[in-house]
Amino acid sequence: MRKIQKILVANRGEIALRIMRSAKEMGLQTVAVFSEADRNALHVRFADEAVCIGEAPSSQSYLRGEKIIEVAKKLKVDAIHPGYGFLSENAQFAKMVEEAGIIFVGPPVKAIETMGSKLAAKEAVRAFGVPMVPGTEGAISDVTEAKKIAAEIGYPILIKASAGGGGKGMRVVENEAELAEQMERAISEAISAFGDGSVFIEKYITAPKHIEVQILGDKHGNLVYLFERECSIQRRHQKVIEEAPSPVVTPEVRKALGEAAIKVAKSCGYYNAGTVEFVMDSNLNFYFLEMNTRLQVEHPVTEQITGIDLVKEQIRIAEGKPLSFTQNDLKILGHAIEVRVYAEDPANNFLPDIGKLQTYKRPQGIGIRVDDGFEQGMEIPIYYDPMIAKLIATGKDRNEAIERMKRAIEEYQITGIETTLGFCKFVLEHEAFLSGKFDTNFVKQYFTPEKLQTLPDDDAEKLGAVLVASLLSQNHSNSNGTTSNKEHIISNWKRNRMVKR
Ligand code: ADP
Repeated sequence: MRKIQKILVANRGEIALRIMRSAKEMGLQTVAVFSEADRNALHVRFADEAVCIGEAPSSQSYLRGEKIIEVAKKLKVDAIHPGYGFLSENAQFAKMVEEAGIIFVGPPVKAIETMGSKLAAKEAVRAFGVPMVPGTEGAISDVTEAKKIAAEIGYPILIKASAGGGGKGMRVVENEAELAEQMERAISEAISAFGDGSVFIEKYITAPKHIEVQILGDKHGNLVYLFERECSIQRRHQKVIEEAPSPVVTPEVRKALGEAAIKVAKSCGYYNAGTVEFVMDSNLNFYFLEMNTRLQVEHPVTEQITGIDLVKEQIRIAEGKPLSFTQNDLKILGHAIEVRVYAEDPANNFLPDIGKLQTYKRPQGIGIRVDDGFEQGMEIPIYYDPMIAKLIATGKDRNEAIERMKRAIEEYQITGIETTLGFCKFVLEHEAFLSGKFDTNFVKQYFTPEKLQTLPDDDAEKLGAVLVASLLSQNHSNSNGTTSNKEHIISNWKRNRMVKR
């Protein structure tokens, strides 16, 4: 056991702030690191001490493991929390931290290594009786062999890169005629994205739901599951709305999911917080996909329904303390939904829309949590992930959480950039979402940009014209040569139109 008194957060934005808030509540001193682009960022202002670690591009700042460890040593930091993204799943970094005599707030290095490779993960899990998608056991490069296996498991199949992440190197193959070409493409995509061309084959689960289980384990072998999160609303294989619990999972399936997740954690000697991801078919059969060895973006929905502060638990576990609760102590209290507010334009294929937050007013009130890292007037830096905030609504049941979220989205005022808020409201009102019977194809199946613009239109057009004219004149007098321009104003107006419906 070693008490942590000072913690460095090797991250930025909303997650750096979120971690430091919990650390502060525990009486810890906090250290922020930042790039030149983040000199005035909120996480820098919040921390007790803050050190610049380099230029704006993350390769020259937030990914500089050695530099971060040097700062930690100099400031006599006891522990480093990596947050998510950046160095959080870098086994080499975790190893260097520990070799420097600093506590890494995360799992053992070995577990990061095993779960970092999809094939190694499957290999580790196989002996534990966790359901897995039918497919090849190892990497495959021979097309004739691939055709044989695909015929056995039945089309459609999925070719996946072992080193894959973020949906890259993944290809659906509908029939044998497509196989050779798709396999070649997947291999070359995997080589260029990850420097590793190993691919394998899995049965493609049609109408799949993405269901994941939060686990916590201490260094004494105790493991608990904190129920599931439903993360099937995705664009470009990336999550955008998450909720807990899943609207379709039954108590029996929940228990089976939780127990399977614990087995996955055991297979690699896991401790700290982690997430086991599953794909689920429409009959609620679930199969292990992978394990993420870090805190997840969507962790707040689990916190909201369990009352557990996951970051505090991570810190306690890192100190060597045993878990202070058992599986039987954990209960689901209500329902929580998170929408990710990205600086992106849903009407333009969700492309990033970077700029200045000319207006930025957060929603408030009962059951609303906003985890963000920006204030009005700040620029969204082009160098990092374009997520502005996570908006979380909690209610006594799913219906209340949905209604609360719709109210909060309407209350949220953001101008200067396009965001995913209007899109999220569209989803929350859609009957497939309301029924719970949706899968990862939701966006492809139901969303077109026109769906965002259904205000009846005379009044809207008139109102819009007045608004644009007044904003333009305002802009003219305030002009300071930054990102505000006519196009932005018009697109803001369009967004407001979407959100206000
Ligand atoms: P990555 O690490 O690139 O994110 P994952 O293995 O986590 O890859 O898969 C990403 C997404 O692809 C999942 O959320 C799931 O929706 C979908 N997916 C993965 N494997 C399958 C499968 N066998 N069948 C259907 N969908 C799948």
